[in-house]
Amino acid sequence: MVDVHGVHKSFGPLEVLRGVDLRVRAGEVTVILGPSGSGKSTLLRTINHLEKVDRGWIGIDGELIGYRRSGSKLYELKEKDVLKQRTHIGFVFQNFNLFPHLTVLGNLIEAPVAALRRPRRAAEETARRLLDRVGLADKADAYPRQLSGGQQQRVAIARALALRPKVLLFDEPTSALDPELVGEVLDVIKDLARSGTTMIVVTHEIGFAREVADTVVFMDDGAVVEQGPPAAVLDDPRHERTRAFLAKVL
Ligand code: ATP
Ligand code: MG
Repeated sequence: MVDVHGVHKSFGPLEVLRGVDLRVRAGEVTVILGPSGSGKSTLLRTINHLEKVDRGWIGIDGELIGYRRSGSKLYELKEKDVLKQRTHIGFVFQNFNLFPHLTVLGNLIEAPVAALRRPRRAAEETARRLLDRVGLADKADAYPRQLSGGQQQRVAIARALALRPKVLLFDEPTSALDPELVGEVLDVIKDLARSGTTMIVVTHEIGFAREVADTVVFMDDGAVVEQGPPAAVLDDPRHERTRAFLAKVL
């Protein structure tokens, strides 16, 4: 379970997160919607400690992220311990962020071998199984530049899965894609949802949210305005700000 508790974050004078609470149960999919600048990416980045919170805390399966508790005090973890925690938190970015100098297979086995010290043979077996799962078994030896955007994003998803994450975070995974490539990436994410992968997905794809989300969260101005099952938030929103946003994107 992912537990975001009273998280505040400012950049200089700008308060970007103003006390965000969020709970994502194991096996559930949470979709985060909200206007540009509302703090969605910042929230995802605090979850894997790419951004430090100013107040509040993040827990994953009962483990505090970025800190350890001693008595009533919190101490920041050493970088190597943060990196270790991060290996269990998959992150899929808008722009794929594949290693351009490595083949597809190389991208998938790099972190398991280097960070988790898995034997190369075993990492390769896992990688090939995951490539098959995202429909790219035949692309193992290709380089990222030889793939379409949709294929690159599916590789990025397989790469995140190779670390057997406790949770997968997606930041607008389809918004850099040509429209005809969006479906193949959403289909992979839907397949993961059906198999019980815990996920937090920031997206503007309302149809996807309706179909896949257990919980839809609407954020505005650094706070959660409204959350609930898709039918409640998308079809019968309580708040004017949610209604105004949906009127624009639907
Ligand atoms: P979008 O839908 O456009 O991706 P978002 O909801 O993801 O928006 P964030 O990227 O979280 O929004 O940004 C929230 C606010 O914080 C914005 O005003 C942004 O300019 C600001 N911000 C984000 N990162 C930084 C940073 N490193 N330094 C200063 N300001 C930042
Ligand atoms: Mg963003």
